[in-house]
Amino acid sequence: MKTPHFAIIGSGTAGLATAILLAREGHQVTIFEQVEELSPVGAGLLLQPAGLAVFEHLGVLDQALKLGAKVTGLEGKLANKRLLVNSHYHQAGNNLYGLGIHRSTLCYILTQKLAEYSSHVTWRMNHHIERIEEQPHEIRLFGTDHQQHNFNDCFDAVLIANGARSQLRPKAWVKVDQAYLWGAAWSIVPECLNLNPEILHQFYDRSKIMMGVLPTGAIPSAPQQRLSSVFWSLPTSQLQSFLKDESAKQQWLKQVSDRWSDVAEWLEQLLLDEHNQPQWLSAQYRDVVMSRYGQGRIGVIGDAAHAMSPQLGQGANMALLDAWAFSQSLHAAQKNQQIDWSMLWQHYHQQRRSSTQFYQFLSRLLTPLYQSDHWWAGGIRDLTFPWMYQIPYFRKEMAITISGLKTGMFQHMSYQQIAEYQHNQNVLIQNNQSLPEYD
Ligand SMILES: Cc1cc2nc3c(=O)[nH]c(=O)nc-3n(C[C@H](O)[C@H](O)[C@H](O)COP(=O)(O)OP(=O)(O)OC[C@H]3O[C@@H](n4cnc5c(N)ncnc54)[C@H](O)[C@@H]3O)c2cc1C
Repeated sequence: MKTPHFAIIGSGTAGLATAILLAREGHQVTIFEQVEELSPVGAGLLLQPAGLAVFEHLGVLDQALKLGAKVTGLEGKLANKRLLVNSHYHQAGNNLYGLGIHRSTLCYILTQKLAEYSSHVTWRMNHHIERIEEQPHEIRLFGTDHQQHNFNDCFDAVLIANGARSQLRPKAWVKVDQAYLWGAAWSIVPECLNLNPEILHQFYDRSKIMMGVLPTGAIPSAPQQRLSSVFWSLPTSQLQSFLKDESAKQQWLKQVSDRWSDVAEWLEQLLLDEHNQPQWLSAQYRDVVMSRYGQGRIGVIGDAAHAMSPQLGQGANMALLDAWAFSQSLHAAQKNQQIDWSMLWQHYHQQRRSSTQFYQFLSRLLTPLYQSDHWWAGGIRDLTFPWMYQIPYFRKEMAITISGLKTGMFQHMSYQQIAEYQHNQNVLIQNNQSLPEYD
C-alpha cells in the first residue's frame, strides 16, 4: 500500500495531537495553519484525566507535568460561603488528577513531540484553506498562501480541525451552529497562593455572577514563574467595555469584595503593582452539534466538530480524545493494505458519538445555571446540587463526568484503556468485527 497522505487543517490541540499519532504510525501528514507563527494566546485551561490519558498515550505526560499545575479537584463557593460544588478527582478513581496548563505550553509540548517525526510531517504555515473537494480517490484542498496566491493540493484524506468557527465542516452534517450569549474575560496573573493551589476555585452568585481562579503552572520561556488564570463571566455584549473601561473593572472588584473578601484582597494586591497590571482578554463560545463526524475521506475533529461552552472544561480533552479515537479507528480499518473508510468512521462514531453527545447535552443543560439572566436558574442549582452531593452515587458520577471519561449516561472508560490502548491494537481489530452499524 502507498503510504496514505493526510491533510490536517488547523494546528490547535486536535490537529497537533492527531498529527503526532498519524506520523508515529508512519503516515505522511501535511498541516495547514492560517497564522504565520504558532503562538496561541488566551488563558490557561484544565486538562481532565481523560485528556491526560491521551497525553500519556502520546508520550508527553511527563513534560506536561513539569510545566503544568496538578489540580486535585474543583470547589465552587456561593456568596454565603457555602460550598456548592465540591468534586475531587479521587472520587472518580485512585490516582486521577487534572492539570492546569497554558495554551502556549500545551502547543509547545505537542509541537516538540511532533518534531520527533519530522520526516513524516510537512508544515504549511500561513496557508488558509477555503474549500475542500472530494473526488473519487482523493481530496483536493483549495486555499491561499502567505503571498495571497491561490493554490490547490491533493491528499488521500483530510481532517478538518480548524476550531469552533469552521466554515469548512460539511454543511449537511451541521445540526446546530450558534454563538452563546455569555462569554468571559480572562487574565493571567502570578500564582494565587491565598487559595489552595491544587484546586480550581469558582465563585457564584445566582446565575449572573461567576468567577474562577485556575492554577495553570508555567510557560516554557519562564519555567520558574508559576501562574494562575482568572476568569470573570459576562454577557458577550459587555465584554468589550469590560476590557477597555477601568470603571467596569472597579465595579468587578467591588462585586467580588462584597461577596468573597479574601479573594478580593488578593486581587487588590495584584492591582497595586502598577508595572504589572493584569492584561485582560475576552473569550466567546459557540455551540456546534453535528449529525456525523466523518464520511469517506473527510473527517471533522475538535471544536470544529463539537464546540461547546467551557462550563464542564472538556473542549481540549475532547479534542485529544478525538485524536486518539481517530488513530485507533484508522488502525482498525486498515485491511489488506487498504483503508476501509466506512469501517473507519463506523469505528470512530462508536468511540466518540455517545460520549460527545453526553457532554454536549450536559453542557447545554448546565450553562444557563451559571451564565444566564434567568431569575430561577441559580436558585434551582443552589437547591439541587447540595442534595446531589449527599448521595455517594451522584458524587462519584459527577467526579467521573468532570474527569472526561464518560461515554454515555451510564458508562465510562477507564484512564488505562486510553493511556495503554496502543499496546492492544490486535484486540481492537478483533473487537471491531462486532461493531454495530453506524448510520
Ligand atoms: C475561555 C475558554 C476556556 C476554556 N477552558 C477549557 C478547559 O478548562 N478545559 C478544556 O479542556 N477546554 C477548555 N476550552 C476549550 C478548548 O480551548 C478548545 O476546545 C480546544 O482548544 C479546541 O482545540 P481545536 O484544536 O479543536 O481548535 P483550535 O484550538 O481553535 O485550533 C484551530 C486552529 O485552526 C486554525 N484555522 C482556522 N481556520 C483555518 C483555515 N481555514 N485554514 C487553516 N487554518 C485554520 C486556527 O488558526 C487555529 O490554529 C476553553 C475554551 C475557551 C474559549
